[in-house]
Amino acid sequence: MTTMTNDTSGDVRLSGISKAYGSFTAVHPLDLTVPQGSFFALLGASGCGKTTTLRMIAGLEEPSAGTVFLGDQEVTRLPPYKRPVNTVFQSYALFPHLDIFENVAFGLRRRGIKSVKKQVEEMLDLVQLGEQARKKPHQLSGGQQQRVAVARALINHPKVLLLDEPLGALDLKLRRQMQLELKRIQTEVGITFVHVTHDQEEAMTMADTVAVMNAGRVEQLGSPADLYENPRTTFVANFLGTSNLIEADVDSRSGDEIVLKAGGGKLVLPEARCSAPTTTGGKVLVGVRPEKISLTHAHDAGEIPAGRNRITGKIADSRFIGVSTQYVVDSPVCPDFEVYAQNIDRDTRLVPGADVVLHWNPAHTFGLDATQSLL
Ligand code: ATP
Repeated sequence: MTTMTNDTSGDVRLSGISKAYGSFTAVHPLDLTVPQGSFFALLGASGCGKTTTLRMIAGLEEPSAGTVFLGDQEVTRLPPYKRPVNTVFQSYALFPHLDIFENVAFGLRRRGIKSVKKQVEEMLDLVQLGEQARKKPHQLSGGQQQRVAVARALINHPKVLLLDEPLGALDLKLRRQMQLELKRIQTEVGITFVHVTHDQEEAMTMADTVAVMNAGRVEQLGSPADLYENPRTTFVANFLGTSNLIEADVDSRSGDEIVLKAGGGKLVLPEARCSAPTTTGGKVLVGVRPEKISLTHAHDAGEIPAGRNRITGKIADSRFIGVSTQYVVDSPVCPDFEVYAQNIDRDTRLVPGADVVLHWNPAHTFGLDATQSLL
């Protein structure tokens, strides 16, 4: 099987597609290109329109407007079985009376192919179920059943595999194993995977590119690291983790940095990491991820290196979470700053009520439009 090539037959291109149910718009006009061979995730909360988008690619839902291309072929009005795609659903939909071999062979037999043994064995090896061929679905674990569903879909050699919350029925440990497993399978077969999930960890672990959806629109598209480190909306910032947002006033500029005032102190924000307009006197929401922040007892504040962004506060709560300690800090600029600090759980002075300074490298600060909702 192939890995990355110049082949574009597995590109998915959505051009202005939308879906309305009566007066309710589930998906607003959407333009999206998923390149051949990539692992793409549609991520969002329940009801945001991700499944509807996937179903329009599959042909299971007709768009109200717009076009769907798979490779160079426009497929907008083609029925699902005429599209070069296959879908794996959360409910594995295996045939209970057929063994694993026959479940995987089903698509080939339906097309009248007689000699299926080699292909089915190859597929079972790919999903590491070669030993289970003669078992029935109920004799396998949930993760194994899901891998059978993947093998059954891949045996038809689709250009694109669509996965609709495929790991939703599995417990957390198995889900994490299957995330790595699906990623390995995708790398091995080299076809395009479009994966729908509401679980941000799942999308971040598996996908090359993630589209974060909210209320029928793609809010932001990017690599997992880019979305996490450079969110451009409060929704994306908060959906992918804790943001510690502070409302600040634009004070001045210094080279390619913006100087902000917040609660009597100054914060520095690299201009490149700010998606908001920054006129002097205007407001910007400034965020920083909890693991980027260091905590120092107020008595030791003199030891903090120059050039770091700082905020004062009081420890409100602390919780040991294994690899680090999670602190909640009350600060005049942010009532519940969250900090994940490593290797300071032995510092007995960082107890609730202690005065502290939160500080971080300005390069880890991101800036958002302050007129957006904070939700
Ligand atoms: P979930 O994870 O819960 O499936 P989702 O993000 O995949 O959510 P969709 O299933 O795409 O969301 O649904 C988007 C919106 O469209 C929802 O508000 C849903 O209620 C609505 N919707 C979906 N299908 C229909 C339908 N056949 N008729 C009317 N409304 C629908």
